[in-house]
Amino acid sequence: MKKLFCAVMLLLMGIVGSVSLAKENKVLYVGTNAEFQPFEYLEDGKIVGFDVELMEEIAKLMGKEIEWKNIAFDGLLPALQAKKLDVIIAGMTATEERKKFVNFSETYYTSNQMILINKENPVVESFDKLAGHNVGVILGYTGDIAVSAIDGVKVQRYNGAAEAIMALKAKKVDAVVLDSEPAKNYAKQNKELGLINTDVSKEEYAIAVGKDNKALADNIDKALKTLNENGTYDKLIQKYFGDK
Ligand code: GLN
Repeated sequence: MKKLFCAVMLLLMGIVGSVSLAKENKVLYVGTNAEFQPFEYLEDGKIVGFDVELMEEIAKLMGKEIEWKNIAFDGLLPALQAKKLDVIIAGMTATEERKKFVNFSETYYTSNQMILINKENPVVESFDKLAGHNVGVILGYTGDIAVSAIDGVKVQRYNGAAEAIMALKAKKVDAVVLDSEPAKNYAKQNKELGLINTDVSKEEYAIAVGKDNKALADNIDKALKTLNENGTYDKLIQKYFGDK
């Protein structure tokens, strides 16, 4: 009797184990930082945006379910390297430096850096005039890297874009350097803010996966190709950037 009980228990454990393993294999842990409107942002506590919909479509084509993880931008690459995430989609620029640590998919969006200023304190008029000023950036963003390279600039690093914008509104910084689409959004939502275009960099956004997971990057690329061909990508572009 005892033996039979043990056998049944072992069998059950095996079944439960393989079911949870199957479930585990179906789930993609996707990291983002939902402070980057319109790519990823919170609406009623839910992560929404262009990247979110694009990644959901990719996962659907791959037969996977997504479990979203919303963490600080600066923590995304370490979490991917520690295998706490399978994928990052976060308006992330595929820089040469980052390519040393992760595999990037094909690029899915091109942007550039812009400068936000407070119209009541218009002391900065172009990127090469940032030296000597207090400039807000977000920790680890490509904007941080570009501004930090300027001689004589006083860089103030913030954990998120919302915090940097608050500092600009309070005139604690003279300018904030940020990717074009979120910058345009902040300018639209805050009439006291002005926007200056720059040609400092061309930012190619791509989806990141682990260095040892080339197969996943290839599958994402295949899905991206399908979404391009079947019009889904264009529909999303229209939905999020149609009025620009
Ligand atoms: N494109 C910028 C970068 O990769 C900012 C990305 C983001 O804030 N989500 O650093």
